[in-house]
Parts: sequence; C-alpha cells; structure tokens
Amino acid sequence: LTFQSFNLSKKTLEALDIMGYKDPTDIQKKAIPFILAGEDLVGQAQTGTGKTAAFGIPIVEKVEFKKKELQALILVPTRELAIQVSEEIRNIGKNKRIFVLTFYGGKPLKKQIELLQKRVGKVLVGTPGRIKDLINRGYLKLDGIKMLVLDEADRMLDMGFIDDIDYIISQTPKERQTLLFSATLPKEILILAEKYLRDGYKTIK
Ligand code: AMP
Repeated sequence: LTFQSFNLSKKTLEALDIMGYKDPTDIQKKAIPFILAGEDLVGQAQTGTGKTAAFGIPIVEKVEFKKKELQALILVPTRELAIQVSEEIRNIGKNKRIFVLTFYGGKPLKKQIELLQKRVGKVLVGTPGRIKDLINRGYLKLDGIKMLVLDEADRMLDMGFIDDIDYIISQTPKERQTLLFSATLPKEILILAEKYLRDGYKTIK
C-alpha cells in the first residue's frame, strides 16, 4: 500500500512528499482507509509508529475549509504533545487553507480567546483542562465537531483527565467520528471506547 492508493488529494500527497514520507507506516496502512471511510476506531500504537499522521492525514482530507466552524478536536495529555501534533497537522495541511489552533494550560489565555473570536480555526489540538476552561467561559463551542481524537488516551486517564474528557465530549455532536489512540488497552480504555465510539468500531494493533 502506498499513499497514492488511499486516493488522497494532490495537495496532501505533495505535502507528504516534502515531509519525506515515502511510504505509509503499518499503523497508517491499517488506520487511514478506515478513518477516510468515516469509521470509529481504537488504535493501539506507541509514539514513533507514525500514529499522528494516521489521524492527521484523514483530518486534513476531511476538514472543509470553506466552513467557519471548528471541525476536528484532538485531545492530548501534555503541552509538548499538543505542539508536536499541531506541527505535524500543519505540515500535512500546508497546501490547504488549514488553520490549527493549539491550546494548553500555561499559555496566555488572551491570545487563544482572540483566535476563537476570529473564528479562524478548523482544527483544535489541546489539553483537556484548558479546553474545558474555554468552554466554561463561553469562548469555545464544539457543535461543529465532526472528528474527535483521543490521543494517548491511557496517559490522559493516568493524569486524571477523565472528568474533563467526559465534559468535553458531552459538548460535541453525537454523530461525530471518534478515534481513540492508546499505547496500552487496559479495561478503562475499553470502557471509554464503549461509551464514546459507535457500535461496531474497529480495533487495530
Ligand atoms: P509519531 O508516532 O506520530 O510520533 O511519529 C513518529 C515519527 O515518524 C515522526 O517524526 C514523524 O514525522 C515520522 N513519520 C510518520 N509517518 C511517517 C512516514 N510515513 N514516513 C516517514 N516518517 C514518518
């Protein structure tokens, strides 16, 4: 399987080429066709396997740049990961008019609020605490979200983010596509998947 075989847009293929991605990694081969087809997915994957592009490529392909709303939300455990994931999606989307917002605790709120008020963001990558805070303050609305990613879900649970995650997901539309990536699949993760992914979701390892 090559990137060409996924029927990606020319713009995305060119971006991947510039990034030096010649062939999809294992997780990308397995995950990208399902995600492009709109399926919910649990992906067991460690960092270093190319999991970010596995969801980043379909997000760039599916986000509609003419729409004003935020359409994809990616929850991550740490600010470092928020920055990394944002960079990767910006690179993949560099030939499209993609605007990726990166929100995490400790970053000045004023700038983040201004960006939300301008309504430029199509994709939001952030940590659960800050995102919940912005929803509570009335600045962030998630009713346009079509794709939700829980990245490093096991780490988010270990860090005690479950209540924030429950709250954030309750603010997104029910008919969204949900993707859960985790290095490990303990019982708590399977419970999370049962709760938030549609029946018949796929699991890939
Ligand atoms: P990740 O698992 O998403 O943290 O990715 C690990 C590293 O692999 C990152 O530095 C990516 O830029 C890189 N990478 C992801 N997909 C590919 C690919 N298909 N070909 C080459 N490098 C890749």
